[in-house]
Amino acid sequence: MKKALIIGGGIAGPVTAMALLRAGLEPIVCEAYEEAAAEQIGAYLTVAVNGLSALALLDAHHVVTEIGHPTSTLSFSTSSGKHITDMPIGGTLPDGTVTHSIKRRDMYRALNAEATRRGVRYEYNKRLVSAVSTGSGVSAAFADGSAIEADVLIGADGIRSCTREIIDPAAPKAHFLGIYGLGGFVTDRTLHTELGLRPGIYSMIFGKKAFFGYLVAPDGEIWWFANMPRSQELSRSAGESTTQAQWRDQLVELLSADRGPAARIVAATPDDTFVPGFDQYDLPTVTTWHNDNMVIVGDAAHAVASSSGQGVSMAVEDAVTLATCLRDIPDTAAALAAYEDRRRARVERVVAYGAETSSDKASSGLGRLLVRLLTPYFLKKAAKAGVAPLNWMFDYRISWEPQRFSH
Ligand SMILES: Cc1cc2nc3c(=O)[nH]c(=O)nc-3n(C[C@H](O)[C@H](O)[C@H](O)COP(=O)(O)OP(=O)(O)OC[C@H]3O[C@@H](n4cnc5c(N)ncnc54)[C@H](O)[C@@H]3O)c2cc1C
Repeated sequence: MKKALIIGGGIAGPVTAMALLRAGLEPIVCEAYEEAAAEQIGAYLTVAVNGLSALALLDAHHVVTEIGHPTSTLSFSTSSGKHITDMPIGGTLPDGTVTHSIKRRDMYRALNAEATRRGVRYEYNKRLVSAVSTGSGVSAAFADGSAIEADVLIGADGIRSCTREIIDPAAPKAHFLGIYGLGGFVTDRTLHTELGLRPGIYSMIFGKKAFFGYLVAPDGEIWWFANMPRSQELSRSAGESTTQAQWRDQLVELLSADRGPAARIVAATPDDTFVPGFDQYDLPTVTTWHNDNMVIVGDAAHAVASSSGQGVSMAVEDAVTLATCLRDIPDTAAALAAYEDRRRARVERVVAYGAETSSDKASSGLGRLLVRLLTPYFLKKAAKAGVAPLNWMFDYRISWEPQRFSH
């Protein structure tokens, strides 16, 4: 049985582990922190139907649908409070499942718990620092001084992947987008009624000084995120010394320039559910995804803009595809090459779509003004066309059946 060492217990890590287990390999997950989701980056995730359908191949979609809630409509409005349009987020799977939203921490914990329940071995506080190919496989070294040998090493270690750099020291690094993200949950379950917010709808506001998104969960909690443009990366000291209250005040001030509920929502968010500011990154095209026995999946290989709502789905699609390649092609190097062949074009198309949808959040000055003026027109046009122009993204289905390979 081939032993697969998976670096990272985020999204791609546990899903790759479950897929490899089902494919007949022996997976081990090594996570740098003492628990999944130790770094709270972003409050919640929207998981698209293509990702849920790939998870269903592993009977793992219930992890999202049981804890998350359906979110099938996007609604856009301007800083003056004018409603621009509503549009669907993806289609509906044959069993009626639609796009779901789930708290990031809940999703990480639930996926890793499910992988553990199925028998995947985990090592926490295990940070990969280097790895070398040996004649027969790979030997990985960790920050705690230990080493693990395996047949294949899979880097599911996120946008600042160490595995990517080990495979190709010249690989591109994550690039700061000029945006801080923030988020939170309003636990006062009466506020949404007071503000007249519509449950089940994901609302986005093109604010004058910040972009704001929120939804009302079925229990009345309001979930929100905000993007504020900033010229410099957050230094560690500034990040650590800024309190939740200071972040809240800064954001409320920015959002007070707009009409609508954003400033009230942020002001009502308690400290313990407030996700403080964090830098947002993207990743230039990574030309090398693998060598003979090491490979990258998920954000380590490609970072899809958060505005596309496809990062999780791409990670899940990668994981399942990689597992079928390793199951069906005995030679590891050929299996890794087949995985890249099957994923690259799809992923690059989604990344390009994500870059288009996020440009409005990062641009500044005249660019931002133009985007603000033109966005309502494009959004209305897209809403008229419904979800159809994005069918290529949402209707994509991974197969668990053996495929024909050219390698
Ligand atoms: C603000 C924000 C909002 C987003 N919203 C959405 C959304 O709504 N929908 C969506 O689909 N996607 C969204 N995304 C994207 C999504 O979060 C990512 O695509 C997804 O988390 C990728 O999963 P991953 O497992 O590849 O990486 P990660 O989730 O980053 O997990 C990587 C894991 O590897 C571990 N690790 C790192 N280095 C090492 C090491 N050296 N050794 C061991 N372990 C290591 C980390 O601790 C972490 O647990 C959003 C992203 C952001 C930033």
